[in-house]
Amino acid sequence: MSDPAPSDTPHTPELLTCDILYTGMGGAQSPGGVVVSGGVIAATGHPDTLRGNFPHARERRAGSIIAPPPVNAHTHLDMSAYDFQALPYFRWIPEVAMGQREKRGLAGALAGADNLSALGVGAVGDIVGSHGQNMLAPLLARTDLSGVVYFEVLNPFPEQADEVFAAARQVIESHRKLERPGGPRLGLSPHTPFTVSHRLMRLLTDYAAGEGLPMQIHVAEHPAEVELFRTGGGPIWDSMTRFPYPTTFAEVIGRAPEADLTPVRYLDELGVLAARPTLVHMVNVMPDDIARTARAGCAVVTCPRSNTHLECGVFPWSAFAAAGVEIALGTDSVASGGSLDVRDDVAFARTLYPHLDPRLLVRAAVKGGHRVTGTAMPFIRRGELWQDAFIWA
Ligand SMILES: [Zn+2]
Repeated sequence: MSDPAPSDTPHTPELLTCDILYTGMGGAQSPGGVVVSGGVIAATGHPDTLRGNFPHARERRAGSIIAPPPVNAHTHLDMSAYDFQALPYFRWIPEVAMGQREKRGLAGALAGADNLSALGVGAVGDIVGSHGQNMLAPLLARTDLSGVVYFEVLNPFPEQADEVFAAARQVIESHRKLERPGGPRLGLSPHTPFTVSHRLMRLLTDYAAGEGLPMQIHVAEHPAEVELFRTGGGPIWDSMTRFPYPTTFAEVIGRAPEADLTPVRYLDELGVLAARPTLVHMVNVMPDDIARTARAGCAVVTCPRSNTHLECGVFPWSAFAAAGVEIALGTDSVASGGSLDVRDDVAFARTLYPHLDPRLLVRAAVKGGHRVTGTAMPFIRRGELWQDAFIWA
């Protein structure tokens, strides 16, 4: 081994240590260390091994976690001007989501994008609301963000499906030329399986699959969604009376609700899962739903703080992981999540899942997020430039 540089030169190697190191390859390790020399990564591994191989390195504890910047795989940037409020789901929607509606829009979206950029986020999966076409161009123009800007579509009337689909396709086609290499890409988001008719869901899915557009769908967020597919009624149905909505839920989904029908089984049997959309939330699911998700190869995004704040339940992380489903993390909007920093969700998840290996959470926030957004992940390995953004906390 060559003689290390004298300790008073700028090229003295530095050994940065942490509790959890995720390099982007394999699993995360604990504890971990990274040797940096002249701004370049010289080695990664267990601190003891690195101390042995780099005896003259100056050692410094960098923080709890060293990993590539995490991905916020699901958010609503156009709600970034909202005030955060934790309330049960059926109060949050009218009082916060609808109640602060005037705060939704381009100014919030751009402020949220600035916030994510300042946080050094790895990539973002952002939902642009169905009335927010004016936000697509400014978000696609961001050179400081990568990921997907999903245009949301929402309409429960099957007889309006062709018309709504044609309008959505027009929006997508008129913005595709604004996609630039390395920048955000366009995607499609059918809002939920109960706010998008079966016919519109199929049209959007077939179009997205044919065009290679990534998709996100909110699925099984609240227990009442499961009840709706089982019985055709319940609190979601009751709450729909304030919106224009078909006379029966069977009209929306094109089949009768039944005891074994779940939102996931419905989407699977409709042919939607075959297009491999990312399924967001997936809190209230049965073992069969998890098996269907795994078989289809769909990734899921969990928003731990939002689900807890809205009292939706706890995403069954271990069951999805055991089935081999790729898991990513998102903040959801600031109005239900509390911030756009997905590291806050990783920290929260460590308390929510005390028996889960925290290394899995870190890996999910990085690798799962890049998988969902289809973005390239930087690796922490010998020869790559060191970035301070690799230190999470
Ligand atoms: Zn959402």
